[in-house]
Amino acid sequence: MTIKFDLYPEGKHKAMTFSYDDGREYDLRLARIFDFSGIKGTFHLNASFLGDGKHLTADEVKTALAAHEVSCHTYTHPFPTAIPPEMLTEEIMTDRRVLEKICGYPIRGMSYPYGDYNDAVIAQLKMLGMRYSRTTKATEKFSLPADFMLWHPTCHHSNPHLFELLEKFRKTTTKLALFYIWGHSYEFPRDDNWALIEKFCTAAADDPDVWYATNIEIYDYVMALRALSFSADCTMVYNPTATDVWISADGAPVRIAAGATVHLNT
Ligand SMILES: [Zn+2]
Repeated sequence: MTIKFDLYPEGKHKAMTFSYDDGREYDLRLARIFDFSGIKGTFHLNASFLGDGKHLTADEVKTALAAHEVSCHTYTHPFPTAIPPEMLTEEIMTDRRVLEKICGYPIRGMSYPYGDYNDAVIAQLKMLGMRYSRTTKATEKFSLPADFMLWHPTCHHSNPHLFELLEKFRKTTTKLALFYIWGHSYEFPRDDNWALIEKFCTAAADDPDVWYATNIEIYDYVMALRALSFSADCTMVYNPTATDVWISADGAPVRIAAGATVHLNT
């Protein structure tokens, strides 16, 4: 029997996620566009700016972003490599504490302010509970990251090839393909191009082979896939996680429910 890790939830072959930084008030309009299209995103917020007139209020974070993931972006948006580790700890933990109180779940991911990081910062962030962190380096590819602490996106929404990339994504044979788009919502009014993201979301929505997910949902799914335990002859598989996963067995999708042991037909 040939077993492959090439499926997302419900046996879909591809996933799409969006990642927006800084928590400006324009996130409200962006979240509405996502909600209208059935698209999921992650909003990386600096908690010190909440409710200052230019950023989301705590209430808006709780209600308008309820269908999405709220994630860390540090408390005051410093360059992470340019501050003492003691301050970085405060930046992450204070951001987490405030956002977790608003959202009611542990904040486990982030994006690097200014795309700034180094090995020491990454090691420290892992100790502070960060499971993934998004960079600003576009790959124009649809691969999952080798290291989730160096999660390079496919592209920024202003990429001139954005719609060509969507066409490529439709045809891609990359296993567990992921189209990852990032940006800042304030860029839409600044560049007068709300129509761009509306058009893109409309074009990208409703693909039955695409899982529309938040950043952390993708992380959790991949970790659950990696956590599967097989019998020596690979006819039995145990899923010790809290996430249902799908695998292919001789080309057919098989659901391995959370906590279940499944006997694969031979
Ligand atoms: Zn930022």
